[in-house]
Amino acid sequence: MTVSVMLFTSDLRVHDQPALRAAVRGADEVVPLFVVDRGVRRAGFDTPNRRAFLADCLASLDAGLRERGGRLVIRTGEVTEQVCRVVTETGAAAVHIAAGVSGYAKRREDRLRGALKEVRCALHAHDGVITALPPGEVTPADRDHFAVFTPYFRRWEEAGPRAALAAPRAVRVPELPGHPLPRRTAVTGVSPGVARGGEREGRLRLSAWLAHPRGGADAYEERHDDLPGDTTSRLSPHLHFGTLSATELVQRARKRGGPGAEAFVRQLAWRDFHHQVLAARPDAAHTDYRTRGDHWRSDEKEIAAWKEGRTGCPIVDAGMRQLLHEGWMHNRARLLTASYLTKTLYTDWRVGARHFLDLLVDGDLANNQLNWQWAAGTGTDTRPNRILSPLAQAKRFDPQGDYVRRWVPELAELAGASIHRPQDLDGPTRARLDYPDPLIDPADGRARFQRARGLD
Ligand code: FAD
Repeated sequence: MTVSVMLFTSDLRVHDQPALRAAVRGADEVVPLFVVDRGVRRAGFDTPNRRAFLADCLASLDAGLRERGGRLVIRTGEVTEQVCRVVTETGAAAVHIAAGVSGYAKRREDRLRGALKEVRCALHAHDGVITALPPGEVTPADRDHFAVFTPYFRRWEEAGPRAALAAPRAVRVPELPGHPLPRRTAVTGVSPGVARGGEREGRLRLSAWLAHPRGGADAYEERHDDLPGDTTSRLSPHLHFGTLSATELVQRARKRGGPGAEAFVRQLAWRDFHHQVLAARPDAAHTDYRTRGDHWRSDEKEIAAWKEGRTGCPIVDAGMRQLLHEGWMHNRARLLTASYLTKTLYTDWRVGARHFLDLLVDGDLANNQLNWQWAAGTGTDTRPNRILSPLAQAKRFDPQGDYVRRWVPELAELAGASIHRPQDLDGPTRARLDYPDPLIDPADGRARFQRARGLD
């Protein structure tokens, strides 16, 4: 009887799962293993919102494996040590894992490879599990990754993702002990509106969103920036935990067809783009991808006000409060809150990126750090000194103020677009509303930023 181990990481699904398929094909029995990894906790990635979502994902993965005659085996501790222990207990000859992108994932892979060699077990790291196109699959002639999205996207389209795979019909698991599944209800400090996780939930959401008669894929091109409309897919946490495969999403969106579905596929390519940048430049998670010689300000009071959604700029505060409540924020709000922090307040992008990572359920090193760098103008943005005017953005993407009304209730009584400039109200009304005065006039922030970047 041959045994292999399938080590799940950010690929918590049974559908379109090349690593699981290879593990099932390559042996009579498979140990589907998830290690609650102490290293992830030490690295600061184990936050309440993501831990809650992860608990749902593991329960759903266990259910998916049970439908196929298997189950999920949970262990806790150092990942290398736990995998080696399972290999020794079962006599497994191979361990299968999704090839990672971050520095942490690569170091984990290296450590595993070394330790498994000692027990004469092979490690197979599978490409194309986490992203639709593996990092490094397409490259420009003169370097190891693309630094500009448009040429990357051209090559991405030409290469096309592989065909999605069906879930295995049966998974036979040997007898071995494991720990109980983590429970979402045992996690404390979770934001009240965190979505439910898990492959089943993700698949239902995907099908419903693709087929939605008014929002969804068909309306994506025109409405993806509509803040109060909230019509984007909200699939990012599922992509982050791998409960949905990016490859399958591309395939299903293309099957649906139309300009909206194509615009959605383009966003999935952005995800791959950031992953291939991080894979080639793991240091970009912490250091400027392209330095602009910034000497950032650091005002603790301003940073606290930004985090709490009390900057006095309603559209910024709405986004920050959505993040606190849901552990998720609309992309347009992410862009303008990040621009406000880095350009209007001229604060280091790492401060904002850390706060986002602390709260976002989809908090992802590649997408988060590189989008932050994009917003700060230290990343791959071809217009690094562009500043998003909060008021112009608010008028364009929340014209009636409904997004602000939803998240900043103390302003809810203000009619229409007047909600975006409460500082214009008379003194007594402002006093009654209990809403802070603006931290800064955006025009002053713009001038300061331009001076700092030597553009004045
Ligand atoms: P949709 O609009 O439905 O798009 C579908 C999918 O495409 C998303 O789920 C996501 O996987 C991908 N995608 C969309 N936009 C982007 C983008 N700009 N870059 C990379 N991938 C994209 N996304 C994360 O997944 N994790 C993060 O930690 C993260 N941090 C961000 C921080 C900042 C400052 C900014 C500006 C953006 C960040 N994004 C991040 C990208 C984007 O905001 C989210 O992916 C998107 O809002 C998720 O909502 P959705 O699933 O409804 O997206």
